[in-house]
Amino acid sequence: MIKAIYPGSFDPVTYGHLDIISRAAKVVDELIIGVLVNKNKKPLFTMEERMHLLKETTKDFSNVSVQTFEGLTIDFARKNNAKLIIRGLRAVTDFESEMQIAQTNHSIEPDVDTMFFTTSLEYAFLSSTTAKEVAYYGSDVSKLVPPVVTEAFRKKFNHSLSGA
Ligand code: ADP
Repeated sequence: MIKAIYPGSFDPVTYGHLDIISRAAKVVDELIIGVLVNKNKKPLFTMEERMHLLKETTKDFSNVSVQTFEGLTIDFARKNNAKLIIRGLRAVTDFESEMQIAQTNHSIEPDVDTMFFTTSLEYAFLSSTTAKEVAYYGSDVSKLVPPVVTEAFRKKFNHSLSGA
């Protein structure tokens, strides 16, 4: 039984995250998405909103669940008895910091490994930050985020996004 966590800010969830989730859900038995409470970042969406959007967009995966966590990712893995941490790699720029984090986690808890999925090409440029920027200026985000997120952007920025 392989149990994995997929930690991140998910502010908000994008098609890039969902690509990683759907691929990871095929290779592990149970996948727990961990939404990080990061006191140093000021998120656009509240924790409740980020959780809601993730739950809505992953409801068709029977082995995927969503939780919130605070503190170290490795402690979240331990608490859930998960032996794998899933992360996505977009470009070389992700590589250095991700490798550092993975090595630190592995040295703290040798029983836990990190598994990387390289992004599908169509999402290589995509981040939550990009999606927020595009939505803020009222452009079409329908290729970047699922419809429920487009709707959430529309409410947040109080304008009608094309493609919504
Ligand atoms: P964090 O703040 O921890 O980077 P994110 O929500 O931005 O959290 O990302 C969570 C994980 O999803 C990270 O491993 C990130 O590299 C990955 N990810 C984000 N966008 C994409 C994408 N377009 N393709 C592949 N992986 C992605």
